[in-house]
Amino acid sequence: MNEMYQILGLPEDVQTAEASHSREPGKRITLVKPPYFAPLTPPLGIAIIKTFLERNGFRAHCIDLNVDPDLWGMHHNYFAALQSLEDISLNDGYSKLWWILNAHLLAKANGADSQVCKKILRTVIPIFDIRFDENVIRTLIPLVDNFYKRLDVLIDRVNWADSAVVGTSTYTTSLGPSLFLLKKIKEKHPHITTVMGGGVFADDLALGSDNLNTLINEYPWIDHIVVGEGEALLLKLVQGELAHKRLVSIADLSGKVVPMQDIPIPDFSDFNTNYYSLLSLEGARSCPFQCNFCSETIQWGEYRKKPIDRLADQMVSLAAKHHNQAFFMGDSLMNPYINPLAEKLVERGANVRYDGYLRADKPVTNTGFVKLWSDSGLFRARLGIESASARVLELMNKQTAPSTIAAVLETLAAQGVRTTTYWIVGFPEETEEDFAETCDFIREHHKNIYELEAHPYHYYPYGQVASRQYQSYSLYPDDVTDVIKFRVWEIIEVKPDRLERYKRLRQITALAAELGLPNIYSVTDRYRAEERWRQLHPLATKIYQ
Ligand code: SF4
Repeated sequence: MNEMYQILGLPEDVQTAEASHSREPGKRITLVKPPYFAPLTPPLGIAIIKTFLERNGFRAHCIDLNVDPDLWGMHHNYFAALQSLEDISLNDGYSKLWWILNAHLLAKANGADSQVCKKILRTVIPIFDIRFDENVIRTLIPLVDNFYKRLDVLIDRVNWADSAVVGTSTYTTSLGPSLFLLKKIKEKHPHITTVMGGGVFADDLALGSDNLNTLINEYPWIDHIVVGEGEALLLKLVQGELAHKRLVSIADLSGKVVPMQDIPIPDFSDFNTNYYSLLSLEGARSCPFQCNFCSETIQWGEYRKKPIDRLADQMVSLAAKHHNQAFFMGDSLMNPYINPLAEKLVERGANVRYDGYLRADKPVTNTGFVKLWSDSGLFRARLGIESASARVLELMNKQTAPSTIAAVLETLAAQGVRTTTYWIVGFPEETEEDFAETCDFIREHHKNIYELEAHPYHYYPYGQVASRQYQSYSLYPDDVTDVIKFRVWEIIEVKPDRLERYKRLRQITALAAELGLPNIYSVTDRYRAEERWRQLHPLATKIYQ
């Protein structure tokens, strides 16, 4: 019998396993969300995998280590210290600062002492066009030291001994802490099978990448790496079918991804849902589009939608169970299903509210549709607009036009739907004129924009649709990479270059400030943004008391 089966206390036949599970459950599978990841909703991915594994006869539970107030306090102090080095607070969702924190967290997880961490910070901070200051570096060092001390305490509070498998849902911003956690578990409990999966394998550690090879070669305490959607792959691992493989991916499913009708409702019962403002569900996986910079289709494969009745049922049932009517739709875009979903929700008098991603496409300029969506509970749309230059949109393969985007913003705003807009500055070949067109557009349409967040373009050699079109180099010097292990990449001789990208980021931020457009980082920002929006667009539903 397969060793993992023996540990789990389950026979190899899954059907027998279900019967066995109900009578005499074996050791369990523990799914962990390590910090940091914006704690907007309870962790959706591991909550779905939990239900999926249990339906197949296994015992599973979830642990969210990403909601500890002390850890988040350290994060805020870290970014506040870094921000003191910039002249302005950028509308970039802290994206530059995350790269610095990631490098520091990785260095520390890999055993670097304070002197080495300081050296890394002195090198990495200026790469993001931030001047460094020794006083600030002295502030940053104990924050990350204390982060790991606190994480150590949180890990020690968990009874891991009755787990047969521990898996992490890992993102780029939680890679260092995930490595730390799995190493500690393996050292203390060598019998536990350790698994890493999650969004980090969509781009940073995508299949074929140097970074994935680094993980495979330099972190022997990770028994299995799951690249791609976790339900079927983790199930096959714990059933023993793939237990001989260190790296498992969608290729091991022979093209048989789990159909959306078989993706179960997430089980959030292991989480304290009071920590999160929204619940979460997904209406689809992947995307019917192929924007050049995006990793969605590479991560999820073919586009699939959940049957609408099932999605509406799940929203109603989760809202009742958790006494929370508000949802974040955790998929890439709602456009292909929002009309039938809205009809179902209205028909049922579901009384839910939801927020999610929409593409700025023609149907979103239809007032009848948008009114229906708003009536059904849509209160916020997140729009990946990226650029208002027709030329750059074409380069990105966005398949939309500035005039359509303008009409989308107007139509949504007229119904009071909050328009959170995301922009990419410094896309390869974006000229000053292209950027000026984007700024002019923002100025012209700012009253229909609820929130503005701009990210400097970031390139990955694998995972993005257009990754292989460019030649790249490792951005950090070798003495940094030798410590943090994972590489950060830049396109060779790209125009605009990094400095120009960061200059444009400052320009767009200054413009947003001039126009009163927020990037919401705090509760105070949120209330201010609400007040502005409700004055501009009286149909906006009140969502914060
Ligand atoms: S950017 Fe949005 S629309 Fe484009 S491929 Fe990605 S998810 Fe799809």
